[in-house]
Amino acid sequence: MTDNTVQNLNTDLPDLKAYWMPFTGNRYFKENPRIISRAEGMYCYTHDGKELLDVVAGLWCCNAGHCHPKIIEAIQEQAETLDYAMAFQLGHPKAFELANRLTEMAPSGIDYAFFVNSGSEAVDTALKMALAYHRLCGEASRTRFIGREKGYHGVGFGGISVGGMSPNRKMFGAMLPGVDHLPHTHNLEHNAFTNGLPEWGEHLADELENIIALHDASTIAAVIVEPVAGSAGVLLPPKGYLKKLREICDRHGILLIFDEVINAFGRTGDSFASNRFEVTPDLITTAKGLTSGTVPMGAVLAKSEIYDAFMAGPSEMIEFFHGYTYSGHPLAAAAGCATLDVYLDEGLFDRARSMEDKFGDALHSLKGEPNVIDVRNIGLIGAVELAPIEGQPTTRAIDVFRTCYDNGVIIRTTGDTLAFSPPLIIKDNQIDKFIETVREALQNN
Ligand code: PLP
Repeated sequence: MTDNTVQNLNTDLPDLKAYWMPFTGNRYFKENPRIISRAEGMYCYTHDGKELLDVVAGLWCCNAGHCHPKIIEAIQEQAETLDYAMAFQLGHPKAFELANRLTEMAPSGIDYAFFVNSGSEAVDTALKMALAYHRLCGEASRTRFIGREKGYHGVGFGGISVGGMSPNRKMFGAMLPGVDHLPHTHNLEHNAFTNGLPEWGEHLADELENIIALHDASTIAAVIVEPVAGSAGVLLPPKGYLKKLREICDRHGILLIFDEVINAFGRTGDSFASNRFEVTPDLITTAKGLTSGTVPMGAVLAKSEIYDAFMAGPSEMIEFFHGYTYSGHPLAAAAGCATLDVYLDEGLFDRARSMEDKFGDALHSLKGEPNVIDVRNIGLIGAVELAPIEGQPTTRAIDVFRTCYDNGVIIRTTGDTLAFSPPLIIKDNQIDKFIETVREALQNN
């Protein structure tokens, strides 16, 4: 224990020993802690009072900004009124209200919402819905899923099986059987420094036809993709690509699932990426911005045809043997309703769209800085890709992250890519501030 034992470095710090942190270099962190103890609007504050401009919105989730007073008030009020109600066979008003309001916002034809507690649970739930749907329709042979290389769909066994990020998969055995993957759409030779959707790459969707020919459509339940892949470093769909996936799925009776855990709630400049790109999938998974990151919650939004297929048999019998103790939790549902109010009252989706050019141009001004090999963006999501240091992948980006943090800006890194997804309330001068901080970090690393 001696080497890894961490002392309480500072009387203001908590004892860091017992917490096994997720997706974190635990030993480095505990030697160099970064503790956030307060947040407001665009800013987070460390335990010792340092102010940090947050251009990741927490972890792509605090889209309305941190600690929005209306969302906080709704959570407090709910906690005093109803802490919890049994989620199976009983209901409470806020969960129904949120489902109605969410489906009104979703693309037309998506009329039902199933609540979960995270993006990972949303993905596993959607995959189970797809399997059960086909079985109910008399096509029980449709058991395969098609994901995409570099896709991120959370960390459940379903999500890592259809996901395409090797570090998240390689330690965990064989996973779900019968999964195949589309090629990813990231191509610097053709698409480097594209502002908005790339022109090149629609044909990559045709690979789905080859995968279908290999396995036969009668064995495939669903295709799952993120419209804009977030965690792999903001990879944009080429123009026409998503429409083509839709057409191919339709031709072969395969369900299309859009994983909008990051994309939804303004991130791409519309309520859902499905609306922005005018392609309606059969199922949408979402989470994060649903409550602006305040209370854990996710949802699967489903087309009527899918819900209706389940509504057979005696009406008092359970139709879908699936759900979580905290599905539609009162605090999360109250936070969700208040968050949707804030998005609509403050026009934040339109705001994201109207800031898109300023945000994109500012990011593209980093072209030409040391080691920048790509800049890409849409809505209020963007990335700057760096040439890796030979033999030391990820190090260059992590160094930039640390320098930005020391200079008062929180960014995110994935591999050697810097990712940005600010709260939708970001102002012009805050865009200028973070871009200049990143520029300086690039020049000094
Ligand atoms: N799906 C996508 C597209 C995501 O980006 C994420 C998280 O970043 C997830 C699923 C998993 O969400 P969670 O971390 O809430 O389980």
